[in-house]
Amino acid sequence: MKCVTTIHELRSDLKPSRGKIIGFVPTMGYLHEGHLSLVERAKKMCDVVVMSIFVNPLQFGPTEDLEKYPRDLARDTALAEANGVDFLFTPSVEEMYPTASKTLVTVKDITDSLCGASRPGHFDGVATVVSKLFNIVQPDYAFFGMKDAQQVAVIQQMVSDLNMPVTIVPCEIVREADGLALSSRNVYLNEEQRRQALVLFRSLNTVKQAFDNGERRTAALKEAAVSAISKSPEARIDYVEIREYPSLAEIETIDGEALVALAVYFENTRLIDNIKLSVRGGNAHVSHHDESQNSPGHGDRSELELCGQYNN
Ligand code: AMP
Repeated sequence: MKCVTTIHELRSDLKPSRGKIIGFVPTMGYLHEGHLSLVERAKKMCDVVVMSIFVNPLQFGPTEDLEKYPRDLARDTALAEANGVDFLFTPSVEEMYPTASKTLVTVKDITDSLCGASRPGHFDGVATVVSKLFNIVQPDYAFFGMKDAQQVAVIQQMVSDLNMPVTIVPCEIVREADGLALSSRNVYLNEEQRRQALVLFRSLNTVKQAFDNGERRTAALKEAAVSAISKSPEARIDYVEIREYPSLAEIETIDGEALVALAVYFENTRLIDNIKLSVRGGNAHVSHHDESQNSPGHGDRSELELCGQYNN
């Protein structure tokens, strides 16, 4: 694996690979099995895999966790190498933003709700850095986790609107064995918060059960989630939303593809999770985020297996 810190060097290193299929996995590092599942998927589909690790200041609000965001480049480098990444790109902030950028990429409408409403400017930062990284790497495929379902919708819209020559591959959520979605921010949780954090997944399952029992009204489904979360005394709801996916339009009843998305605080730690529900031809269906993928580890967990891939 080649480690690269400058744009110039990465471009020249990738020259011999032009003509091959290049896969790209953008991350903010502190790697876990969620990130590595994207690499695994990229390895299957591409000849060359580029991973970036860049904690992008542009996507953090002034009171957010930019400074304390967990970082461990030595460990990340070892994990990336062991998992078959070919090029690890770890630019500095000065390398990515040598001068204050006067250009921002803004995706309208689908950034107004959910995380976009709670984190003003966040998706401008994401769309801008992802555009820059796409211009630098020029990948054929880019791999994103459905853990950040709104981000996937935003990037897909941007790529389509701006005719970017890259195919976005959404990958399903990887979870701990007990259901908590893997996240670099999980390290912020103390033992009690870690226990209570299960309420995110539990509440999604409550919604799923109600949906399976025929409930289609989003207000009623939302209420079921809110009441499940309120059982956890340390949980503070940021939002619980059920929207059409990927448009993220408001809906009163589910009659197509819907995203159940939530963000919950434990003290200052904000966790997000989601599931997709869909009604096809009148039949209820909980979709894997990427139905073409047969994930390992789906064993016999009848309830949990509907909602992602497990990290055993
Ligand atoms: P981050 O480093 O948190 O910005 O995430 C980098 C990429 O990894 C994004 O596309 C995320 O959606 C994806 N990712 C993060 N956590 C998970 C997870 N638990 N399962 C699948 N993908 C994930």
